[in-house]
Amino acid sequence: MKKLVFLLFAVASLLVTGSAFATVRVVSTIPDFADIAKSVGGDKVEVSSMVRPTQDPHFVDAKPSFVLDLNQADLLLVAGMELEAGWLPPLLAGARNAKIQRGAPGYLDCSTLIPPMEVEAPDRSQGDIHPGGNPHYWTDPRNGVRIARGIAKRLEQIDPANAAAYEAGAQSFVTMLEGRMAEWQKILAPVKGRKVVVYHDSWIYFLDWAGFVQAGTLEPKPGIPPRADHVAQLIQQTQGQGVKYMIQESFYPTQLSNLFAQKAGAQLLVLPTMTGAGGTHSYVDVIDAIVRAVSK
Ligand SMILES: [Zn+2]
Repeated sequence: MKKLVFLLFAVASLLVTGSAFATVRVVSTIPDFADIAKSVGGDKVEVSSMVRPTQDPHFVDAKPSFVLDLNQADLLLVAGMELEAGWLPPLLAGARNAKIQRGAPGYLDCSTLIPPMEVEAPDRSQGDIHPGGNPHYWTDPRNGVRIARGIAKRLEQIDPANAAAYEAGAQSFVTMLEGRMAEWQKILAPVKGRKVVVYHDSWIYFLDWAGFVQAGTLEPKPGIPPRADHVAQLIQQTQGQGVKYMIQESFYPTQLSNLFAQKAGAQLLVLPTMTGAGGTHSYVDVIDAIVRAVSK
């Protein structure tokens, strides 16, 4: 009798999970898409991300738990443009989950939702890790709007029963973000046109939206560590141009950045680019932190 009850219970729970989505399991490579997906999907989704916010998203150590998460996922969000090319493909193969393979509805390459920058003249020969264009596009809040709408559309496709909820979630996120964008533009208005040098070429989308000018990068090519001779050249090149800030993420060393900042009379800013870094708790927090830092 006990056995029978157990069996019935097992069958019943199978039926429950099989009939409709309890929750849509979303796995994102970077924490920002996870945060946006949570805003869009609310209690209809369960989200997790693989890249730690203080980690270089080009180079991630694959944890065994990633394969398990991917195996269980209904939707995978990736930045694309080869940002994850160095670590994601073997995990995706190991996950043995047809739902989230490239081309399936459960695979969303968020770079297909945004207008890409720096796609011209790829230079693979010198180890450039941005061969298909610049993949660091989420720090432009206009792209945050596009990503939210794109995620909502895909969730509607995967879980049509909750389409209205995803539509409403996206709309309220976009309304909130657009409100913040108007506020940020006011803060940025008096400082537009400021010149900055960056460590890695990961700021161009933000700078484009903010109306700042990128005067150079410390890395001679994306992914090629800065050398003293290149930095010396950059100091010469930017002399007298009034470079205001030297900007970088926390996972890059600061020695040469400090040297450049000192020689150029610029201020070194170590800023977050992903949700969770620098005391931020959301995608909006990240943009807010960058805006406030560069407009001081
Ligand atoms: Zn990069």
